[in-house]
Amino acid sequence: AAGPEDAGAPERRLTVLSGPSGVGKSTVVKELRAHHPEVWLSVSVTTRAPRPGETDGVEYFFVGADEFERMVAEGSLLEWAEFAGNRYGTPRAPVEERLRAGVPVLLEIDLQGARQVRESMPDSFHVFLAPPSWEELVRRLTGRGTEAPEVVQRRLDAARVELAAEKEFDATLVNTSVENVRDELLALVLAPKV
Ligand code: 5GP
Repeated sequence: AAGPEDAGAPERRLTVLSGPSGVGKSTVVKELRAHHPEVWLSVSVTTRAPRPGETDGVEYFFVGADEFERMVAEGSLLEWAEFAGNRYGTPRAPVEERLRAGVPVLLEIDLQGARQVRESMPDSFHVFLAPPSWEELVRRLTGRGTEAPEVVQRRLDAARVELAAEKEFDATLVNTSVENVRDELLALVLAPKV
């Protein structure tokens, strides 16, 4: 018989969205959050400087290198990675609390981070967001216009390697339109834990 500890909402599985930089992960996730606030989106910490229009605590928690180091040392990050010269990590406690409470949780992280989550949470569900084509990815990374040319080049180099990782994922979504991907991703996020 189910004890009192089983009486609440069923535990949710964690969904991880990953894919090459510039493929449109953050746009898709923003769109999902706008239409489906019932999905909880983890806010990462990063040592990267805010881009114009980004707000501390919304897109990221912007921290210094020392603060990031401290979080790593304390074990308070579920995963972390260095990407194009900056560090990014997922605060552990908020994710674990929400999963226990039965809230669907989505992480939008790079591939190195996705691999760490796969290791530490084997029942997490991993979704790869793929560009419609390589040309389209180059166009998006070049066209953002907020990064210096050498930064764009580093992201392109990373993207070429990252595209090959698709085979490690449980599902692939092709970013044809943000509305399509939003709905497909929602269905995967809300699927019950098996
Ligand atoms: P951006 O600087 O463009 O916001 O993000 C660069 C890359 O870092 C993206 O691929 C993004 O998914 C990834 N990223 C953002 N937050 C995290 C995180 O908490 N952990 C990891 N491993 N990657 C992250």
